[in-house]
Amino acid sequence: MESVFLNKNLCCGCGVCGQLCPTDAIRMNPDQNGFFYPLIDPNKCVDCGSCSASCSFGRPLQPSRKQSVYAAKLEDVEERMKSQSGGVFFALAKKILSEGGVVYGAGMADDLTVRHMRAETLAELETLRMSKYVQSDMNGIFTKIGEDLQLNKQVLFSGTPCQIDAFNSFTKNKNIDTSNYYSIDLICFGVASPKLYDDYLNYTQQRYSKIPLEKFIFRDKLSNGWHGCVEKIIFSKTGENIYYSTIYANIFFSLVGHRASCFSCPYAKTERCSDITIGDFWGIEEAIPDFWDETGVSAIIINTSKGEVLFHDLSGLLVRESNIADCSKKQKCLTGGFDAPRDYDAFWRDYHRYGFEYVSRKYGKNDWRHKVLRKLKYAIKKTLILFFPAQLIYKIKHGIKKLRRQG
Ligand SMILES: Cc1cc2nc3c(=O)[nH]c(=O)nc-3n(C[C@H](O)[C@H](O)[C@H](O)COP(=O)(O)OP(=O)(O)OC[C@H]3O[C@@H](n4cnc5c(N)ncnc54)[C@H](O)[C@@H]3O)c2cc1C
Repeated sequence: MESVFLNKNLCCGCGVCGQLCPTDAIRMNPDQNGFFYPLIDPNKCVDCGSCSASCSFGRPLQPSRKQSVYAAKLEDVEERMKSQSGGVFFALAKKILSEGGVVYGAGMADDLTVRHMRAETLAELETLRMSKYVQSDMNGIFTKIGEDLQLNKQVLFSGTPCQIDAFNSFTKNKNIDTSNYYSIDLICFGVASPKLYDDYLNYTQQRYSKIPLEKFIFRDKLSNGWHGCVEKIIFSKTGENIYYSTIYANIFFSLVGHRASCFSCPYAKTERCSDITIGDFWGIEEAIPDFWDETGVSAIIINTSKGEVLFHDLSGLLVRESNIADCSKKQKCLTGGFDAPRDYDAFWRDYHRYGFEYVSRKYGKNDWRHKVLRKLKYAIKKTLILFFPAQLIYKIKHGIKKLRRQG
């Protein structure tokens, strides 16, 4: 077996090469860091070149028609709290389901692995909601979506921009009729390693409880609001044995556990490859102050006329018009993306040499000083909330951050 790609910066792990290979010679295999890369079986490969022809990563994107931009949030606050931002994904997916269609998105399986799944009912849709900050497993998904489209079903597929662009390539190569197909891509900060995530779950299991881990929420909105970055770990079905942590979030948001190709992401711009792009409307407090809401506001960029049709007349959604400048002001992932952090290689070296617990202390701010500081911050926040409105606290916090940045 040999790897197709020698340059890991140029492979996003979407797997379209394998799903299109006519001789089934490619399978996706995890590397040492746990990211999937294609491996070619030389005994099966007929050198047809279909794998490199199907690879869409880094190909120029079609310039979008004039995009429309909105801020939106679900009217029902309880429902909004079940979504990471303002819940626009739920509103779009519900519309597709109510018209007899199916929805594909990243869900969490019973064993807590993150993979793309198919939903045809509202109950099945639940697991696709909320952000999972790890690369989702796409094994076999393009073929399944293709089959649904060939049955003339309406399909909504949501994922990271590289996953959406990969499916665009799949439909072109397979000549699939896409008139019933709608795509949603995320404004994407990048994805972390599934192995790292798995190690984190094992570490948490050993550390906190003998009862098997039941549920994991990457960024819990209920306890820390829309802006908070705290994960919730639940060990029982009945709601006891709940722990909060920031280890995974600290590692994820410091970018050290990211896939290498995320640092040369060709989708970190306002030209998009989907019908609709969704994300958090960071900066809403300045763009549309009276629409600010600490339970979450979505940013929506409509890229195609099909997207316009899907977004039109969505029920249960409060919508305000905006523009691309306001929506991308605080989004590095729409304006060029990120470079690899300086300690990226050191992180992986430490991880292989000393294991997860060591890197969780060094890079996940999991030592005693950070723990005390976190508890102190939490107590101050809870006390302030008793006396002042949340928007004021948020404004003060960000004012201080801004001043610090300006030195
Ligand atoms: C890895 C990652 C990085 C992100 N980075 C940013 C960012 O930098 N800026 C920003 O504004 N928004 C970012 N988002 C998007 C944002 O957090 C919300 O997911 C988005 O706004 C949708 O929120 P919602 O309330 O409409 O719906 P939700 O119910 O929260 O919808 C979740 C949607 O995200 C998809 N999804 C969840 N996890 C994954 C995954 N691992 N891979 C592919 N798709 C996934 C689901 O399929 C579903 O469509 C990111 C999301 C992820 C998963």
